Amino acid sequence: MAKVSINLATGSLQKEEIIVGIDLGTTNSLVAFINPDKNPQVINDAGKGVLVPSVVHFDQTGGITVGNEAKNYLITDPQNTIFSVKRLLGRSYADIENYKNLFSYKVIDDNTESLVKVKVGDRFYTPIELSGLILKELKERAEHALKTPVTRAVITVPAYFNDSQRQATRDAGKLAGLDVLRIVNEPTAASLAYGIGLNQEETKTIAVYDLGGGTFDVSILQIQNGIFEVLSTNGDTFLGGDDFDRAIFEYWVQQNNLNAAELAENRELTQELRLKAEEAKKSFSHQSIFNEKVGDIWCTIDRDTFEQLILAKVEQTINACTNALKDAGLTVEQIDEVVMVGGSTRTALVKRKVAEFFKRPVHDDINPDEVVALGAAIQADILAGNRKDILLLDVTALSLGIETMGGLMDVIIPRNSKVPTKAGRQYTTSVDGQVNMKISVYQGERDLVKENRKLAEFDLKGIPAMPAGLPKVDINFLLNADGILKVQAIELRSNTKQEVEVKPAYGITDEQVEQMLMDSITYAQDDVQQRMLIEARTEGEQMVYTAERFLEKNNAYLSIPEITETQKYIQALKDSLTSGDKDLILKKVDELNDYTRPFAERVMDMAISQAMKGKSIE
Ligand code: ADP
Ligand code: MG
Repeated sequence: MAKVSINLATGSLQKEEIIVGIDLGTTNSLVAFINPDKNPQVINDAGKGVLVPSVVHFDQTGGITVGNEAKNYLITDPQNTIFSVKRLLGRSYADIENYKNLFSYKVIDDNTESLVKVKVGDRFYTPIELSGLILKELKERAEHALKTPVTRAVITVPAYFNDSQRQATRDAGKLAGLDVLRIVNEPTAASLAYGIGLNQEETKTIAVYDLGGGTFDVSILQIQNGIFEVLSTNGDTFLGGDDFDRAIFEYWVQQNNLNAAELAENRELTQELRLKAEEAKKSFSHQSIFNEKVGDIWCTIDRDTFEQLILAKVEQTINACTNALKDAGLTVEQIDEVVMVGGSTRTALVKRKVAEFFKRPVHDDINPDEVVALGAAIQADILAGNRKDILLLDVTALSLGIETMGGLMDVIIPRNSKVPTKAGRQYTTSVDGQVNMKISVYQGERDLVKENRKLAEFDLKGIPAMPAGLPKVDINFLLNADGILKVQAIELRSNTKQEVEVKPAYGITDEQVEQMLMDSITYAQDDVQQRMLIEARTEGEQMVYTAERFLEKNNAYLSIPEITETQKYIQALKDSLTSGDKDLILKKVDELNDYTRPFAERVMDMAISQAMKGKSIE
């Protein structure tokens, strides 16, 4: 099977410019890039830390802070401190109504159908703007650390994000001054960080277990030829490390006989204990007992107790894994690799339970709260054309078709078709004895292929010599869910076959797609005129060819005057072909047709009548 790779250089990406990978998380966000040693690396700007808490604070004077500094205001100024904004991205009020009181800030909308907003002081912010502020902070940190402008990024989202949430993420990037080259699924990025899926030859089924601060999801992915397909996702958008912190907090409240009602009044103490609880939890990664004081409250807990406290929650995540496998129609034995993602997978009990469930060691060598950003950086590097690996994550919004006579685009799969999709059409040859047929595959909306983007070209060879119009060549386009287009050409009489695979979304940016769509509108009128002229010309040429062959083969059945008269009509048609006047051409076609019809009937030959009707490629 012939394979055609698309030239990476067709994207307008400049090789030198760094494209960063961004993990825009519910709890923490971070940015990574490919360092000069060609390794992915997280950015730690001026020692401020790698993780940027996804928190935005607005002060009275309009000052905005993002990250750790903003996180401090969660206690002292909760109404003006926005956290977990990712939960609101691309959501309508109806979507979040059930959990609106979990936010300490005001989430509002009077129109339940439209997207939510957040009220801070007397200003309204959309989740897109708020996420944009986090992205801007990341962009600035990257620029500062790398000492170069950063304008292009790959941003990750959970696999279960819908179109509206993905679009909102893109828009947030735009607001931050970033050109978002791709939205990539978090589990896909995590796999890439482990090098899974980089080998084009391998086929693997993997599970990605992601336990973050407030959300849990598990995705089952099938990787084939470097293409990631999400087979299923499952999880709980309100289960994460915060629950573990809360469990410890409640344990201390109990151990110290604290009055819950009084504590609820004392917000600062509550928050301090919560943070201490998180500290205790994290300490179990390297010690088995935690013993500290907050004021005169003893904060003591050992790892075994902690594990008992969180066991039910961890088991809940394992149930989700069972469901994900079921939805994917797979058994545990069919999973080749398990990848651990999210800060909370550092918890020993979580690792043990997951490994036990999948009956295999899990991938946990890479820092679980950095792994997604590192993978995003690898994806960015691939898009920049720095790697030969071909990866595809989107499907283009452009029509797919082939070149027919006169350089016209014959659309086979129209744009905006749902994928996967299949479509085909039958073609024939235009010349007697034609044994090769060139098939050129294009993408775009213009009527002339030269204005569109060429994806592939191949020859269907070995068509048995037959009169023009007799071969039946089926061209089938099969666009799978991953955006891979398989083009198959079969000559039905001889069963001669040729196939080619291309990746239409590869090496083309969204801006280029937009431009192509815009052009198709701008030039619609001209295109139609041109198409009609070319179609008329093609029909005329076919008619000349057929009529000349007819004379050649059948002159025995015709009188001399009939032959010379036919030749006159043919010449008139030939002359009209260069006129650029489609009506004139069609008139001459009709005249020749009318004159020769009685002879044709006389010596009717099926093959020739076929040729007159047949649509040909070349
Ligand atoms: P998100 O993807 O939701 O933004 P992260 O992947 O950054 O979240 O995970 C944040 C969570 O990881 C927090 O609840 C944090 O307490 C937890 N976490 C970080 N380090 C550890 C650790 N050593 N042990 C247990 N949990 C940890
Ligand atoms: Mg995450």
